[in-house]
Amino acid sequence: MRGLAPVEPSSIAGVVLHRVAVPLVEQRVAAHGVETVRQSILVEVVGDDGRRGWGECVALARPTYTSEWVDGAWWVLDRFLVPALLAGEVADVVGHPMASAALADARVDLALRRGGESLGGALGSAPLVTSRAVVGLAVDPGSLVDAVSSRLDQGYTAVKLKVAPGTSAAVRRVRERWPDLDLAVDANGSFDPVEHADELRALDDLGLGYIEQPLGADDLVGHRELRRLARTPIALDESITTAGSVLAASACEALDLVNVKPGRVGGVVACTEVLDAMRRRGLSGFCGGMYELAIGRAASLAVAAHPDLCAQPSDLGPSASYVERDLADPHVLRPDGTIAIPTGEGIGRDPTPERLAELTVEVSEHPR
Ligand code: MG
Repeated sequence: MRGLAPVEPSSIAGVVLHRVAVPLVEQRVAAHGVETVRQSILVEVVGDDGRRGWGECVALARPTYTSEWVDGAWWVLDRFLVPALLAGEVADVVGHPMASAALADARVDLALRRGGESLGGALGSAPLVTSRAVVGLAVDPGSLVDAVSSRLDQGYTAVKLKVAPGTSAAVRRVRERWPDLDLAVDANGSFDPVEHADELRALDDLGLGYIEQPLGADDLVGHRELRRLARTPIALDESITTAGSVLAASACEALDLVNVKPGRVGGVVACTEVLDAMRRRGLSGFCGGMYELAIGRAASLAVAAHPDLCAQPSDLGPSASYVERDLADPHVLRPDGTIAIPTGEGIGRDPTPERLAELTVEVSEHPR
């Protein structure tokens, strides 16, 4: 392992930002309306040797997961992060880890390609990682059972259900149908520890692998109290933004598991700092997903298969489950519910030029 040093600004000839809109398999209905495309940003770092490195910004179209969103990330990359990099300066930007991650990961990808090494090789990753199917929010027990059944038919051996207040009866139905299934839930911080105490207790009785982010991102004390009452392990996702937040949550005894997402913490290099903090505190975890396209998912898969994470199923399924045709060769779910880690140089994926041209809605070129 030669490390993950990004390419130096002096060896970069330019940066190109590609804003893309990739049609979804099914339109996504959310509180804010209907979405029919996955909007995303690809960062292309062009080396002075003509080689290219790629990174993907995983921010969603609206700031519903964290405060970042695609329009804001585009602005921050285009106006601040990329110009500062090309000027050889440190960008004076607070926050915006998803925007930063896309540029940082593209620089690491180019460095690895120049060295002829894969990201998985540099991380010491396993060749395969087990995928956990993530099933969207459902109040109706019958439709949730049907959704889980179809995922198991595809080969998945582990399932995560999105939950919110009012859905525990549907989760119970799934547990009754599959008593031995590796089942977990993710609340995205939607529960109030007092108002929804009965429902949290109901979930705790279902023998789940973990309850992810039951309370708000900054409620470490609440998670500590919940963890003292619950038998089910508590995983934190939105609460974990840096290595320091891992140490803080651990010092508060607020978690059992960490959902590690490269995009959320600032990229693959920042991710290794989170993993170092987890190791110091004796914490295990797994890699989560952000509906990445094939570029972002290639990097995340290498992280998911890291020796410290690969014992747990990752949330990384094939992008074909949510976009019709990806920008690059898709990652495929194998019949045994695993996905292979790319073995090519860098992240092991390049956008297909025709697909990139077809799906790009905006380009911003930054020559040196
Ligand atoms: Mg989550």
